Amino acid sequence: MELLLEAVERRRLTPLEAVELRRAVGHLRACLANAGVELRRLVDEAERVRDEHARQLLMVRQPGLEAACRICGAAAGAWCRPVHGGGVMPRTLHVARLVDARVLS
Ligand SMILES: [Zn+2]
Repeated sequence: MELLLEAVERRRLTPLEAVELRRAVGHLRACLANAGVELRRLVDEAERVRDEHARQLLMVRQPGLEAACRICGAAAGAWCRPVHGGGVMPRTLHVARLVDARVLS
């Protein structure tokens, strides 16, 4: 392709060279399009792994999060939420949840 680009600056390309240059440009365009898709896929994968790692760190620090909470209905991985009016977020997980997750017995 380099030779064709140099040639196009010096003279008119032959029909065969023009076809070859057109094919090379098409190939480059396809490569770049795939590179964008691949980059997006890799970024998505990196974000998924980062989120999974953060979730695992949270589980290590708060093993009670592995279980859902039967008191407030918080799903596994989500912090407990208020069950009474007033809406103050609990500072710790509900005890029943800690028991369910075998953190307490
Ligand atoms: Zn709870």
